[in-house]
Amino acid sequence: MKLLIATGNAHKLGEIRAMLVWPGVTLVGMKVYGRPLPEVDEDAETFEGNALKKARTLCAATGLWTLADDSGLEVAALGGAPGVRSARYAGEGKGDAANNARLLRELDGVEDRRARFRCVLALAAPDGRTWTVEGRCEGRIAHEASGTGGFGYDPLFHPDGGTQSFAAIPAEEKNRISHRARALAAAAQAWQPILAGVD
Ligand code: IMP
Repeated sequence: MKLLIATGNAHKLGEIRAMLVWPGVTLVGMKVYGRPLPEVDEDAETFEGNALKKARTLCAATGLWTLADDSGLEVAALGGAPGVRSARYAGEGKGDAANNARLLRELDGVEDRRARFRCVLALAAPDGRTWTVEGRCEGRIAHEASGTGGFGYDPLFHPDGGTQSFAAIPAEEKNRISHRARALAAAAQAWQPILAGVD
């Protein structure tokens, strides 16, 4: 059977391919799908809502089983912000540096620096059934950026148990403990029996 991976991000597709190796399941990327697919507005109030919306929309457009994800950063002292607005925290199209600068401004003088990354994966079947799994990575927001790797909030995020930011540790180490890696590990286990029975 074919499983459409609803991400336009080549890096994410690579991570997903490395983690989801199921006998009889061929992962299909959006670029190789062969015809234009609908853009999905990520306007839900939860990660689950956005991941399900993407999975359902692309499943309906293609007739293929579809996997989609949504992820972001939740900061305790900010009541869970930036959350689903992580990519556009400093404004539409502003980018990572502006998002990080806003986060540091919002946390200026704040002692409680606890934060977590969350990633929700959604699976949609052509008959309308859906499933979700989640991965989390707990940590803290530093007072200044460090490291040159990664993307997004990585230079400010220090995972629990470590002394360096996600941008300063090797990519392989981040990919072992990240929210996305944990969500993919959960999906690899939970969804294999579901997909095993599909032609
Ligand atoms: P999306 O899941 O690609 O929509 O990601 C939403 C936003 O969350 C990204 O633009 C980043 O700002 C943030 N984000 C998600 N995962 C990570 C990560 O692993 N490191 C840093 N930032 C992340």
